[in-house]
Amino acid sequence: MLNIILFGPPGSGKGTQALLLKEHFKLLHISTGDIFRNEIKNETAIGKEVKQYLDAGKLVPDELTIRVLGNYADSHSSPEIQGIIFDGFPRTVPQAEALDAFIAEKNSAINVVLSLEVNDEELVKRLINRGLTSGRSDDSNDEVVRHRLKVYYNQTAPLADFYLAQKKFVSIRGVGTIDEIFAHLCDEMNKLD
Ligand code: AMP
Repeated sequence: MLNIILFGPPGSGKGTQALLLKEHFKLLHISTGDIFRNEIKNETAIGKEVKQYLDAGKLVPDELTIRVLGNYADSHSSPEIQGIIFDGFPRTVPQAEALDAFIAEKNSAINVVLSLEVNDEELVKRLINRGLTSGRSDDSNDEVVRHRLKVYYNQTAPLADFYLAQKKFVSIRGVGTIDEIFAHLCDEMNKLD
């Protein structure tokens, strides 16, 4: 079983690349952002609880996020998948610790954290552009976009040290064509056993 974390700020291309990696390496793609947006669309109890956080560009509390992730992973595992690609999770140190425990329970481990590196100016441009077509309210508002980047640097970026200490953190240039970036990611994936 491969367990891959796709890491990087909002707008770094995690969603796009996760879909390509999922197809190519036959992985289960778990995006906590997609799960939350789906819950909101379906007006579930969880959706009602998390909407305020997504609208404001704030992180959903760890306890709820970890529970939602565990339920999703357990209910979507199948014999055909070769592993999991985590996109947008973990975003805090407690989430990373919970993920380590969750995966260890399955006698497995995180193989690698692939971090897409993109400068802020490019990120804001991409997010605002995406907001014009995606219908995502958190991409359409300049203030919320900037707040999400601030949340990333304050709460999520410190995770780099967590995974550097485990020698699992690999930086990938996240600027270029989708194919170029995908090729770099594949090179790293192909180094795994
Ligand atoms: P994303 O699609 O990954 O950009 O996530 C969109 C929004 O969903 C974030 O701004 C948060 O409000 C929420 N979210 C997604 N993943 C997480 C997570 N791992 N922890 C907390 N909140 C999250």
